[in-house]
Amino acid sequence: MRKTLILSILLGATFLSVSAQKSEKEVLQKLEQKSKEYGIIAQNIWDFAEMGYQEEKSAGLLQETLENAGFTITKGVAGIPTAFIAEYGSGSPVIAILGEYDALPGLSQKAVAEKESADKAAGHACGHHLFGTASTAAAISTKEWLAANKMQGTIRFYGTPAEEGGSGKVYMVREGLFNDVDIALHWHPGAQNAASAGAALANKSAKFRFHGISAHAAGSPDKGRSALDGVEAMNIMVNMMREHIPQEARIHYVITSGGKAPNVVPDFAEVYYYARHNSRNVVIDIFDRMVKAAEGAALGTGTTMDYEMIGGTHELLPNLTLQKLVHDNLTEVGGIAYTAEEKVFADKIAKTLGMEKADLNVAKNIQPYKTEARAYGSTDVGDVSFTVPTVGFGTATWVPGTPAHSWQAVAAGGTSIGNKGMMVAAKTLTKTAMDLFKDKKLVEQAKTEFLENRGADFKYIPLLGDRAPALNYRN
Ligand SMILES: [Zn+2]
Repeated sequence: MRKTLILSILLGATFLSVSAQKSEKEVLQKLEQKSKEYGIIAQNIWDFAEMGYQEEKSAGLLQETLENAGFTITKGVAGIPTAFIAEYGSGSPVIAILGEYDALPGLSQKAVAEKESADKAAGHACGHHLFGTASTAAAISTKEWLAANKMQGTIRFYGTPAEEGGSGKVYMVREGLFNDVDIALHWHPGAQNAASAGAALANKSAKFRFHGISAHAAGSPDKGRSALDGVEAMNIMVNMMREHIPQEARIHYVITSGGKAPNVVPDFAEVYYYARHNSRNVVIDIFDRMVKAAEGAALGTGTTMDYEMIGGTHELLPNLTLQKLVHDNLTEVGGIAYTAEEKVFADKIAKTLGMEKADLNVAKNIQPYKTEARAYGSTDVGDVSFTVPTVGFGTATWVPGTPAHSWQAVAAGGTSIGNKGMMVAAKTLTKTAMDLFKDKKLVEQAKTEFLENRGADFKYIPLLGDRAPALNYRN
């Protein structure tokens, strides 16, 4: 806590003494000068390592930073305490920059090149501490440029919690918080610098709960009905179903409750499922079949079943007009160079991933532009991308070759390597936002493409239905 306090004094002083930055070059130079301060903010959030919907300190630190820089903050939007909007300016265009800050359970790790837990409940294995901070930095530098040039328009930072399974943005979209936005920008930490038109899978997730009757497992098993049998029967059926669904689909589950002791017939058991595919209609179909499997399992095991929707996201709708712009900006900003010390760290990490050495050219270069890139993750940015023209990219915040959701990602994200990749993102976002404020035609072109791609008959239906935000899904 003390670290945060000192930090806020430091930030208050820095951000109040902002001098006018008229040219884009000056804006980017100023941003570079602030990389140390933003690094401290990111490392604080890395340290907090707060899970979805519990990101009070992380959201608080970003709010404070944005408020000190002259933004108006609206906290607790869409019924989510850690969701917020920070705004500066007025009128159109309205450019939104998305920021995330949730950590992943069970992935606690120190900022060292061998697997060593930091003894926390969670870790930033998806780099969202960098995500939130770079987006904050970009919103602030864009604001300073708007102010110095007395430009018209609104820059907004969206503080979007619980990306990891909590579908935070979906509630914000459902609430209509993006309705007046012209363009939304986002990025993601990664192991390379790339701004190709990425894809993401739509997904639906739910917790299936089976209720049985407990009894002595040896003395009176006939009196019992095992809730765990319900879970196991469901799993068998869903696993068989895998052979009869589109190839590109993904289904995964964990048993989150399976009883307490073998000599007690469990009267409660729970299994947590995900279904994914690059078309939401396929996901909806698979999910409905999973529900049928759960109903059948309950029927056959003499138990009862209910389920709770946890998450649901659309696939990503790419926008090539914007994607090309971001690729050009990312190319101009350029990748990152490692210091001798960072190289030693990177090579050690590479060895733990089964590589001889880290390929540092990957961090230095920008991947060639592709109009279509396949990806198998999901993101709640998908719902934003079906609401307003949206564009994203990735930067090398981890040692090349590092998979997301790994201890190696947590480790690198806690070092100067993570901070460097973060600043590449902050600069690319800032350049892109400035371009969009300057060029109304470009905004219109992106919107035309968006409406065409989305289709005339599109109607937004959240995949998680009308449920209230699952604020305790990590409890
Ligand atoms: Zn992520």
